[in-house]
Amino acid sequence: MISQNPVFVPGPTNIPEVIRKACDMPTVDHRANIFTEILHPAIAGMRKVLKTKNGHVFVFPASGSGGWEAAIANTLSPGDTVLAASGGFFAVRWIELCRLHGLNVKTIDSPWSNHIPLDAISRELESDRKGAIKAVLVTHSETSTGVLNDIGAVRSVIDGASHEAMLFVDGVSSIASMDFRMDDWRVDVAVCGSQKGLMLPAGLSIVGVSERAFDLAPSAGMPRFYFDFSAMHRSYGAGSYPYTPSAALINGLLASTHFLLDEGLENVFARHQRIAEGIRRAVEAWGLEIFAEDPEHRSNAVTGITVPNGCDSAELIRHAATKYEVAFGIGLGEVAGKIFRIGHLGSLTDVMAISGIAAAEMAMADLGYPVELGSGVAAAQEFYRGESRAEQKLAA
Ligand SMILES: *Cc1c(COP(=O)(O)O)cnc(C)c1O
Repeated sequence: MISQNPVFVPGPTNIPEVIRKACDMPTVDHRANIFTEILHPAIAGMRKVLKTKNGHVFVFPASGSGGWEAAIANTLSPGDTVLAASGGFFAVRWIELCRLHGLNVKTIDSPWSNHIPLDAISRELESDRKGAIKAVLVTHSETSTGVLNDIGAVRSVIDGASHEAMLFVDGVSSIASMDFRMDDWRVDVAVCGSQKGLMLPAGLSIVGVSERAFDLAPSAGMPRFYFDFSAMHRSYGAGSYPYTPSAALINGLLASTHFLLDEGLENVFARHQRIAEGIRRAVEAWGLEIFAEDPEHRSNAVTGITVPNGCDSAELIRHAATKYEVAFGIGLGEVAGKIFRIGHLGSLTDVMAISGIAAAEMAMADLGYPVELGSGVAAAQEFYRGESRAEQKLAA
């Protein structure tokens, strides 16, 4: 049986009813006008979500990881050098993918609990006088830890070094939940997936591509077929697709962009900020540590919580799932067993967040964690009450 509880994994996220219905569609001929009428406005909507005026948007039938591959396969050649910040499970995976494709990856290593060191990026770029570094790869919201990296600041560092490197951003868990400014930050490739902030089932990798990165395609020596930007671009121009698209999911994407733009992107970001802050206050009230050390660099999409010494976070997740039918995120990679994650991106309200906090409290109490029942719930309630009062005043 599928529980009616919301999920608190940081993707796939809860799917609003209107978006779910949009994905339930009879077969359409993807070579007919009806498909164009779905594809083109979905792409226009995604441009707004990415805050890009002229950037290209390509929608691949893949999960987020496909976008990582698309980013490098269309812009680089084997043997090229890229600079990549490690510091989390997803960042490390993207680096592995780059190495498998024959790229020379210089990594900037930092503890998983902290954001990437900008001075180290700056040093690497400053000392690269020949311009060997073709791209800088950064994960915006590191979903495995809850750390947020400041993309605008990375752009400033690249500019400050007067370096020509492109900027590639993994925005899989940030885009559509946190502010993302493809044009302002001059992001060359922005990677996202359908099942996170876009509140869709998994199955689409959506990639925003700057004109500059797109124009590199003819000279990029990396082999590519399925993820070819140029083939996509040619087909889109003809209102079609280079192979069979996931038309139903693209119809869902159209609904998702409407949903987000109707709420207003800034309101969506404010809602995530508020919900995340309530969850962080709950963690504080429990007396547990938020894994992301620096309060200025915490993601509004997901919170990683360090479990007390001697506790196994995997057991906590299993227990919450079996006893309460509530899904939280496990610790991945080097923090397996040490942290659990509350995902709070996508379709979520204050009230849903409180139910997740309450469920986590019950599961922790069952397993003998030194956490007082109701403490986190009360802290979040206080915060959400105060915040909505402030909103009422504004509205009055
Ligand atoms: C989920 C996620 C991915 C991987 O996406 P898949 O859809 O599982 O392929 C990559 N990066 C980040 C930051 C993510 O949150």
